[in-house]
This record gives sequence, C-alpha cells and structure tokens, in this order.
Amino acid sequence: MRTVKLNNGVEMPILGLGVYQIPEAEACERTVAEALALGYRSIDTAAAYVNEGAVGAAISKSGVPRNELFVTTKLWIQDMGYDSTLRAFDRSMERLGLDTLDLYLIHQPVNDVYGSWRAMERLVKEGRVRAIGVCNFQPDRLMDLWLHSEIKPAVNQIETHPFDAQFEAAKTLAELNVAHESWGPFAEGRNNLFKHPVLTGIAQAHGRSVAQVVLRWLTMRGIIVIPKSVHKERLAENLDSLSFDLTKEEVIRINALDTGKSAFLDHRDPATVRWLSDVHFDI
Ligand code: NAP
Repeated sequence: MRTVKLNNGVEMPILGLGVYQIPEAEACERTVAEALALGYRSIDTAAAYVNEGAVGAAISKSGVPRNELFVTTKLWIQDMGYDSTLRAFDRSMERLGLDTLDLYLIHQPVNDVYGSWRAMERLVKEGRVRAIGVCNFQPDRLMDLWLHSEIKPAVNQIETHPFDAQFEAAKTLAELNVAHESWGPFAEGRNNLFKHPVLTGIAQAHGRSVAQVVLRWLTMRGIIVIPKSVHKERLAENLDSLSFDLTKEEVIRINALDTGKSAFLDHRDPATVRWLSDVHFDI
C-alpha cells in the first residue's frame, strides 16, 4: 500500500476504509473483516459512528499484525476539553481493544478545541497516539491551531470530491505541511456522481469504474482517501484504484466539475455549529 508521510514522519496508507453509517455491529465487523482480508490496512472510525467495538472485534480476529495496521478514530463535540478528551480517548481505546492509536482526530471545529488539543499533545508525548489531527477545519481555523500549538496537526480530514475539490484549502494544507484527507470522496453519490457523464466517459476510456476514477483523481493529488462500502466487490474495486493514471487532460476535465461549495454542510454557518452541538451520543 502506498503511503503519505505525515509531518512527524509517520507513514499513513493513502487509501483506507471509512466506516461511517455502518451502524449495525454485525455489518460493520463483517465489512472491516472483508476489507482487511482484501488487503486494506487503514480503517477510519469515530466515537460518533458508534461502531468502534465492531472495528476492534474485526481487527482482533483478523490476525493482521498490529504494526501493519493504521487505525483512526475521532473525538466528538460533547467530549471536548482537556480532562474529558483524556477520558473519551480511554473509552475509545477500550472499545477498539488497542493500546496505541495511529491517528486521533478532533471530529468538528466546535467547543473547546484548544483544551482538547493540549490533551491530545499529552497523549502523543505518552506514546499512546502516533499522530493527531483535525477534521472540518477551514483554512483560517487550521492556521490558528497550527500557530498556537506545540505539536502541529498532522492531518485535516475535509469533505473533498469532484464537486467540492477544495483547491483553496489545499494551498493552506500544503503551506503548513498538513496532510489532506478526503471524506465523502464520492459525495455519498450526491449530484448523481456515479452517473455523471464526464466521469463515466473517463471511466469507459480506461475500462475502469467511476469510483476508481474519482479515487485516482484524489490520490494523484496526494490526498488520502477512505471510501466507505459495505459490498465486497466495491471494496475490492476501490482498493484497486491506484493501479492506473489519469491523463492531464482528464484531470482538467474533472477539476472543472468543482462548484466551490459543500454538498453537505457549511461549517461557517452558525446554524451548522448549533445543530452539531446538539448531536449527542451514548459514548
Ligand atoms: P463516500 O465514501 O463518499 O460514499 C459512500 C457511498 O458510496 C455509499 O453509499 C457506498 O455504497 C457507495 N460506494 C462505495 N464504493 C462504491 C463503488 N465502488 N461503486 C458504487 N458505489 C460505491 O461517503 P462517506 O462514507 O461519507 O465518506 C467516507 C468516509 O469518510 C466515511 O465512512 C467516514 O469514515 C469519513 N467521514 C468523515 C467525516 C468527518 O466529518 N470527519 C464526515 C463524513 C465521512 P455501499 O456501502 O452500499 O457500497
């Protein structure tokens, strides 16, 4: 598996499995087990996905050596703050059945980001986490955290797909040497992504699927991808997306699909911050 070298030297697979919206424990455990058997080595979960236990069960039964795996989980808004972050981390690790975590992310740029960040820095110093980062940070928020932290964020996981290509955000990420990770690489199928004529045309030219074209467009930009699927054949297809290249002309045609705005939610909208803050989980 190709990797991206994070700013602290840790190597992160450029492609992994995301397990958002696989709420049933049985389905999640089976999906992660199938992915690991196919050769996936990076799994992206979150406390808020309420499936860390299923991910942990699949990992422990897989027989894959721990040092070959890269496991990411995330801290939810209700647990932001120094002490509550340390407690939430312990609960996540217990559910995952792991001693050390590869990547711990702040899930949303909401609530006590700096208290949580200090706790996460402590977890790195104690050797309990190999890398720490954030999700959904707009460039200004990322710059602020980067300037006012001892350990710099290694990753920013942000919505990135052909309809929200994040070209501007990518400039700040490159400037700060923060790895760009895409969530929603297929925009969860919105805007009819899998049937879009530009994407189907390019897919046909390569004898590939639209999913593979989109993932390759992202990874050719050096962006880490974590597509979600509960179907074995799609897991295999997505994993096999690194074995071809798009032409410059094809990349330009996909770049032109960018609308410059989210297909999901705007983190700068006060209503979004209020809505996110009201989402609580039994975790
Ligand atoms: P996504 O990966 O863009 O889309 C998933 C959808 O695409 C599912 O409906 C899946 O269907 C379908 N799909 C997957 N592979 C396919 C293929 N080869 N052909 C056709 N359809 C395919 O959406 P996502 O799950 O939201 O994003 C990926 C991961 O990013 C998540 O799982 C999560 O780990 C992370 N994420 C993070 C945040 C954040 O705030 N940090 C937010 C959202 C997501 P089937 O499952 O039925 O195959």
